Amino acid sequence: MDHETVVKNMVETSHVLYNKGLVPGKSGNISVKFVKDGLNVVAVTPSGSSFKTLKETDIVLVDLEGNIVSNTNHVPTSELEMHLNIYKVRNDVGAVVHTHSPITTGFAFSDEKIRRFEGFGPIEEEFLKVVDYHPPGSSDLANTVSEGLLNQDVVVLKDHGMVAVGKNLDEATLLAEFVEDSAKIQFVKKMLMSN
Ligand SMILES: [Zn+2]
Repeated sequence: MDHETVVKNMVETSHVLYNKGLVPGKSGNISVKFVKDGLNVVAVTPSGSSFKTLKETDIVLVDLEGNIVSNTNHVPTSELEMHLNIYKVRNDVGAVVHTHSPITTGFAFSDEKIRRFEGFGPIEEEFLKVVDYHPPGSSDLANTVSEGLLNQDVVVLKDHGMVAVGKNLDEATLLAEFVEDSAKIQFVKKMLMSN
């Protein structure tokens, strides 16, 4: 996939995520790994921007060490290290979607775990994996999340949000949507069955 297509796809996806309510305010960041001029690069959303108004010129390109390759007037997301660490430990991953989707994040702030539902691959474990809290943007969070994703494609970040990965952006986005819907179903079920 060429640079232009990657960036266009990222902007469209950002708007979809925003319109579905998965990245309220200025939360959330996404990235795509691809090859440009023989070099592995990562296109990533900028720091402090809303997905509502994100445009193609906002996307920053970095190498796998985090050096900015193009669009130097924008600062990459503060969660860049988390994205890069995931690509380092998961060669098969081509895109990362990080959201603070409200229902999933509500679960992340409670002691209740999100049950896995039919609809996205075989169910091997009963609940989605939750990784320990570390401050957003920290190396500890980047390491904890990438380790958590070694054996699965989604982790819930304690007191923070979730991260989904896929071989491309569409896969990662569909998984992020599915996780939020799973949390919603479980929440509704719990409410209806509570009396
Ligand atoms: Zn976050």
